[in-house]
Order: sequence, then C-alpha cells, then structure tokens
Amino acid sequence: MTYDFARDGVFIAGRWRPSGSGDTLPIEDPSSGETLGELAAASAADVDEAVAAARAASEGDWGAMPAFERGRILSRIGQAVLAEMDALAALEATDVGKPLSQARNDVVALARYLEFYGGAADKLHGETIPFQAGYTVYTLREPHGVTGHIIPWNYPMQIIGRSVVAALATGNAAVLKPAEQASLTALSFARIAAEAGLPAGALNVVPGTGAVAGAILAAHPGVDHISFTGSTAVGQAIQAAAARNAVPVTLELGGKSPQLVFDDADLDKALPFLVNAGIQNAGQTCSAGSRILVQRGVYDQVVERMAARYGDLRAGPAMADLEVGPLISAKQRVMVESYLELGRRELTVAGEGKIAAEAPAGGHYVAPTLFADVRGDHALAQEEIFGPAQVVIPFDDDAQAVAIANGTPYGLVAGIWTADGGRQMRLAKRLRAGQVFINNYGAAGGVELPFGGVGRSGHGREKGFEALYAFTTLKTVAAHHG
Ligand code: ADP
Ligand code: MG
Repeated sequence: MTYDFARDGVFIAGRWRPSGSGDTLPIEDPSSGETLGELAAASAADVDEAVAAARAASEGDWGAMPAFERGRILSRIGQAVLAEMDALAALEATDVGKPLSQARNDVVALARYLEFYGGAADKLHGETIPFQAGYTVYTLREPHGVTGHIIPWNYPMQIIGRSVVAALATGNAAVLKPAEQASLTALSFARIAAEAGLPAGALNVVPGTGAVAGAILAAHPGVDHISFTGSTAVGQAIQAAAARNAVPVTLELGGKSPQLVFDDADLDKALPFLVNAGIQNAGQTCSAGSRILVQRGVYDQVVERMAARYGDLRAGPAMADLEVGPLISAKQRVMVESYLELGRRELTVAGEGKIAAEAPAGGHYVAPTLFADVRGDHALAQEEIFGPAQVVIPFDDDAQAVAIANGTPYGLVAGIWTADGGRQMRLAKRLRAGQVFINNYGAAGGVELPFGGVGRSGHGREKGFEALYAFTTLKTVAAHHG
C-alpha cells in the first residue's frame, strides 16, 4: 500500500495544511498494534476556519449551483471512488482492522450513496397548497447552510455516504470531524472529491479529538445542523450543545437489536444471517443483530447450528480477510473482554471461535463467543458489547418474543424469521425499531432505505430520500395577488 501517512493535514477551503496548533494523533493499525504515522489534530481555530469556509461555499458557488449540476459532481465523485477501490479498501482495512472484503463493501456503498444522492439532487420538490381565494401558496425546500458531521470509526466511508453526501446533495456545505481512531478514508474522500470537481469549501475535514474538534464543532454557533453517529453518551452531549444554538440534530446511536426466530422459520436461510449480523466488522456495528430470540420448538437446533458456525470462526489480521478482524483499539478489547468474562462466569458458552495463529500479538483480538440460555434482563442481553459476541434467548410465544425484543432502552433494527404472513405484519408493527427486516437482516445495506432509531438509539433518519428532508428546511411562501 502506498498511502503517505505524513501527507494530509486538515482540509479547509480546498487546501491542505497542518493543524493550527501543530497537535497530532497517532495512526494505529489495529491488526498489529503498530503506529503507522501521525494525523493532524485540528485546533479550535481550525474548526472556526472550516465553519467559515463552509459558510462561504454555502452562500457562494456551491449554494448557488443548480441542483442538477451538484448532482453531476456527486455522481462523478462516485465514479472516482470506484476507480480507487483497491487503495481505499486497503486503507480502510489497515486503519479500522476491517477484513479486506468488508472494506471493499464499504467502498461500494460509498459509491452507491454518491450515485443515489447525485441522482436525487434535482428531484426534491416543494408543493403548492390550495388556500383562500386570491392567494398562491407554495413550499421551498432549502438547505440548512452549514452542516456538521461527527462520525465514528466503525464504518467511516458508509457514514460519510449517508450523512455528508446527502447534506451536499441538498446544497449544504459540510464540516466533517472523523473519529480519532480512523480518519484516513475521510481524508482520502476529501482529496478524491476535490479532484472530481467539488468546489472549495463545500466539504471541509477537521480530524482530531472528540474533546476539542468534536465538541467545538457541535457547539459552534455557525453550524446550522449536526449529524452524529456514535455512542449514546456522546450523542446526548451533542444534543445538549446543539440545544444552546437551537439547531436540529440527527443522532444515530447504539443498539441491541434482536432477531426473532420462530418454529416455522426457514432455518437454512436464516442461519447465515443470524451469525453474520453479530460478527460483521467484529460486532462493531450499531445495527448488529446481537440478540437471537428463538422459539422453543427449534431452540436446540438453532443453538447447535450457530455454535457449529462459531467453532469455524477465526479472528485475524484485516489483510488475511478472515471472518473476523481485530477490535479497533486496546481499550475496546478490554471492554469487550470484560463482557466475555462476565458471560463465561454467569452464562453458558455454546460456541467459540479462535484467534488465528497468524494474528500478530500486538493486535486487538478476541475470540468470537456465543452464549446460550440467556435471560432477556442479563447485562449481556441489555448492553451493547460492540464485539463479536451474541446471546441466544429462548421464548414461548409471540407476546413473550415481543416483550423481550422491546425490553431494552434501544430501538434501532429488528429481524423476524417466520413463514407466517400474519405474524410478519403484526410483529413488524409491534417491534420498537427504526427498521424491521422480515426473513432477511439488513437488506444488504440498502442505501435507499431510511435508517435510524427510537429511544436510546437516537432520532432522525438517514439514508434514502428521507435524509434529503432532514438536510433541508421548509419555507412556505404565501402570495396574495387578489
Ligand atoms: P465510539 O464509542 O464508537 O468511539 P464516540 O461516541 O466516543 O463513539 O465517538 C464518536 C465520535 O464522536 C468520534 O468522532 C469522537 O471523536 C466524537 N466525540 C467524542 N466525544 C465528543 C464530544 N464530547 N463532543 C463531540 N464529539 C465527540
Ligand atoms: Mg486506525
């Protein structure tokens, strides 16, 4: 791989430069624990400058550009992203520790967002409203102006796609604060977008810490909308900061998403999804299907078959492209291990994978672990583990399944596996979640499908056409002409 780790800095008004404070952060390869280089850590003054650059772009070239031209530029960036597929995937795999083929999926998803929102940019209409005689009333969908995007380390490219790209499509100018653990593809994206013709200032990137760059961006009086994806605790702090400026926020937070498996489910079809939804990206996925609720009639069979699959799982370096990679950091590994230890003490370990022999000792690996016979109120069934671990919980009937499924503070995603059409429809209504999947899980990531949570999983919707509404504000024009 040929990435020059000393090359980038902060990206403001179309120019690269070092952080104003000279501060840096280490770039770590989670597969080996090695430090690869240094990242610029933006200062408060850098964030101010980025917000000012975004304001100038939103009031200048970018904001004034016809929607179809904005869309064309985004579509062109999508082609450029695909052209750099191999380099971007290798960079993400190295930075996040994500198995290479999963990193490739993220590149494809980012390109799809650029294609989808590029195509949608000129298809967002206002309405005319029948009103009293002598009036003509219509609505205009207008950009907020400057949007702030604070994103996590687990899916940088996909989250840039659903957040930054949707904001740009509607004519906003963006300031992006990537996560300190994984900023490299965000910086590459800025370079690719600029080369493909995105005007200076439309996208500004301020890598750095949450405490400085993130907190200052969230509280900045020059920002008109904040999108945040990350932990519930930080999301709450961001909403509080945004409240002081009375600006809207979209919060995409954690989850403890259930998959409900009924006696009549097609198990051959369900089984790969059941496990995959828990181990993808080493379980570091907000919409991970981490709770498996199984009806008694097929319970033993599901546990046995999931356990067999767990026995085959190997955690290893991202470039080896095994089923599971390392966790993002030593800190994350300690947190996940503490859950696994609690589970080993108090629960039944039904299945366990291995840390591959080729995994470097300094990498942040844990063995994928499946716990069975778990009660819905156990800590491992209530709290987000963010590692390759799942719990299996038995249930008797629909009512009990719904009670367990809805029995956490979260509500992001849910999966239902059953052949009974009536049950599919009833449960889809009763499950507390922003997305419900029937006889599938995740719908292959569908960029067209609105996504977001209820409860502690957050609020607001990203993805699909819905995001375009979130990234615009509605103006009503009432003309009296007699
Ligand atoms: P995770 O637990 O997945 O790392 P976090 O919520 O800690 O998620 O981080 C998600 C993003 O929020 C990162 O970009 C991080 O730098 C940023 N962040 C962390 N703390 C704050 C804060 N107090 N204000 C604004 N952003 C923050
Ligand atoms: Mg890294």
